[in-house]
Amino acid sequence: MERMSFEMESRSCNEQFARVVVAVFLSRLDPTVEELDDIKTAVSEAVTNCIIHGYEGREGIIRVEAAIEGNEATVRVIDKGIGILNVKQAMEPLYTSKPSEERSGMGFSFMEAFMDELTVESRPGEGTAVTMKKTIGRAKE
Ligand code: ATP
Ligand code: MG
Repeated sequence: MERMSFEMESRSCNEQFARVVVAVFLSRLDPTVEELDDIKTAVSEAVTNCIIHGYEGREGIIRVEAAIEGNEATVRVIDKGIGILNVKQAMEPLYTSKPSEERSGMGFSFMEAFMDELTVESRPGEGTAVTMKKTIGRAKE
């Protein structure tokens, strides 16, 4: 198992930073461009959710963890923000708690579609942890 983690301020300019750092770390799995794009999209969606929903634009710390085990990549995105009352509802396609802000409610659906596995753990008032897994290299088998 190889791991890395970092923490960053909850700011939209750090979304690009997070997706690039994760992509560079996971590039040792020799992913295809498509696989890497999928992971970058999923990381972007998760980080954006921390900024917009978790901290609602306020200051906060986002923690990003990534691990490689064999040809499986695991990425976790964690915030200590407001948390989610009803995770099942939040994960439904098109559900958004901010319909007035041009959100389409598709973030979790994209994470689910682009990764193999998505787990959301959350406690209201304590924060949210999103764990995503993807096996890399199947395209070449
Ligand atoms: P889109 O991602 O399409 O812009 P969205 O962010 O509302 O819209 P999802 O990413 O699917 O849609 O998230 C669904 C809902 O889950 C959000 O509207 C929000 O209520 C809740 N949510 C998601 N991530 C977090 C988080 N980190 N902290 C608190 N609430 C969250
Ligand atoms: Mg979202």
